[in-house]
Amino acid sequence: MPDIEEIFALIPNLKPADKKQISEAFTFAEKAHQGQKRFSGEPYINHPFMTAKNLAEMGADTETIMAGLLHDTVEDTTITTKNLAEKFGPTVAFLVDGVTKLGKLKYQGAERHAESLRKLFVAMAEDIRVILIRLADRLHNIRTLQYVPKEKQRRIALETLEIYAPLASRLGIWKIKGALEDGSFPYAYPKEYDRVVALRKTKGKETIKKLERIYRDLARQFADQKLDNFQIDYRIKYLYSLYQKLKRKNMDIEQIYDLSALRVIVDSIPDCYQALGIIHNLYRPVPNRLKDYIANPKPNGYQSIHTAVFTGDGSMIEIQIRTKAMHHEAEYGVASHIIYDETGKPKIGGQMTKNIAWIRELIEWQKNVGASEEFLHTLKTDFFQDRIFVFTPKGEVVELSREATALDFAYHIHSDIGHHAVGAKINGKYSSLDHPLKNRDVIEIETKKTSRPTSKWLDFVKTNAAKNHIKRYLKIK
Ligand code: MN
Repeated sequence: MPDIEEIFALIPNLKPADKKQISEAFTFAEKAHQGQKRFSGEPYINHPFMTAKNLAEMGADTETIMAGLLHDTVEDTTITTKNLAEKFGPTVAFLVDGVTKLGKLKYQGAERHAESLRKLFVAMAEDIRVILIRLADRLHNIRTLQYVPKEKQRRIALETLEIYAPLASRLGIWKIKGALEDGSFPYAYPKEYDRVVALRKTKGKETIKKLERIYRDLARQFADQKLDNFQIDYRIKYLYSLYQKLKRKNMDIEQIYDLSALRVIVDSIPDCYQALGIIHNLYRPVPNRLKDYIANPKPNGYQSIHTAVFTGDGSMIEIQIRTKAMHHEAEYGVASHIIYDETGKPKIGGQMTKNIAWIRELIEWQKNVGASEEFLHTLKTDFFQDRIFVFTPKGEVVELSREATALDFAYHIHSDIGHHAVGAKINGKYSSLDHPLKNRDVIEIETKKTSRPTSKWLDFVKTNAAKNHIKRYLKIK
């Protein structure tokens, strides 16, 4: 039987009033799901309980954890959103409603799926916590996928790889992204999974031995040099992301240099630089591998110092150095950016604004997309593909899908700029509109009032947004 104390233990400084509310939500959900079972045969309540536990690990607030406990009551029991609002307040009711799928009577199959996703995104734009609940829910479903009927497993795994993992990645929740991908991988691509596991195994043993040795050396040095409160851990690359990389390297594991990395977590930024000094003094650094993302954060806000050192046995290892706050942010992204005001309402700050802008864009876009099929397709191609970060001449960051061209950039800025574009300056050099963009390019679009879109443009633009603008202009359906 799940024990609510396990959840309490994950939340620092939880007030008695919050404990009471969470306990009430738990009891309520337990009663609502009474008699229901999961595919595994366990009582159903285990699932909402684990969902709430995943949320507590992400650092979610009381209302989100309550909604996590209650998230399936409206969909799967006789409880209504109105019941929840009366008992737990409008916010918890809103969060649960946001993750509740649309009625089976109105929609069927793929259409129900697409329309439910749209509903989820609209709710997420209003309150980002909705998506945290959906991801925590999906994570437990993936972890229990072995009990699900065979014919459903692959569909759920693929949907997770195509929609939920990219969504987690887009929001910077790397830990959940990695867990969702590695959990889905064996069900989505069983043969490839076995192959990657075997490949990793050949390298894994020696790698771990080496990591343990370096760990001991470093810990001793840090203690000697009075670097307080350090924490060292090491990670082996997630299987699915290793698979993605192996595909680009002809499946040759010898060409993967970041199979493992050592991570040093300290209290403050000065401690980060002190740790770097100690490391470089102990091991010879690999030339040109030092990246200071603390002084120069990545466009997505990521901060850490990365270096690689020779380990004395002919090999090298990557080391990442960061503070505790940077670490939590790197693991949980958006979830760690939600700041609460005095009334306990979430406020959006810093990096969140950019994520929210992206969600707004998604909502605007989906209003203009009709059929469910087109919606799902564009979602996978435009919104969840690998992204690149490029800049306007004023230094503003613009995010586009990989392979986007200068003309896609023009349309992204404004449809009028797209319609009248005649050429581009990329990093100060004149280029044609079909020029593919790379990370960090600075792009200036040249326009002419008399210039107009032509059907040829449709041959090279990559984003659906640009395509739709051009088609609409040319009145092509
Ligand atoms: Mn659920």
